[in-house]
Amino acid sequence: MTYRQRLEVIRVRYHYQCGYCGVAEHEIGSFLEIDHFRPKIAGGTDDLDNLVYCCSTCNRTKNVFWSENELNRLLHPILDNVSAHIYEQEDGFLSPLTPLGAFHVERLRLNRPALLILRQKRLQEQRMREAVPQIQSEVNSLLQQILEEERLSIELKEKIMRLLERMLKMLREQE
Ligand SMILES: [Zn+2]
Repeated sequence: MTYRQRLEVIRVRYHYQCGYCGVAEHEIGSFLEIDHFRPKIAGGTDDLDNLVYCCSTCNRTKNVFWSENELNRLLHPILDNVSAHIYEQEDGFLSPLTPLGAFHVERLRLNRPALLILRQKRLQEQRMREAVPQIQSEVNSLLQQILEEERLSIELKEKIMRLLERMLKMLREQE
């Protein structure tokens, strides 16, 4: 497989996002990099499972770190169940659920200010996406109510007209 082909496979496998911090290509306007999860100098291979699609900041922050110690190793974005170790709070802050999660967040500096801003922006966009259809449907229902009330009001006016006509007719007949 050529480098280019391998890059394509990894981009798709990681949904065009950094495996560590989640920043997407379209959010930074460029391709990301390929990280060797287990660095080559620590015996890492070019196996697909050892290649992580990764932004340059995470790549530089991680550098050639390697540990197999269960308390201070990094989580593999695909082979580990990351969400069992880390939880994203309402404000975009990543909160560890386990000591391993805490080490991972700390070692990769996953709460760096730029990432907090990005996650808050995403949460805001998500809230907006959810709120807009809800508001639209509420407005539609209110418009429907107005139409219904207008129809009723026309009916009542017609009823009044009929009554007045009847009264006029009776008055004329009496003359
Ligand atoms: Zn990253």
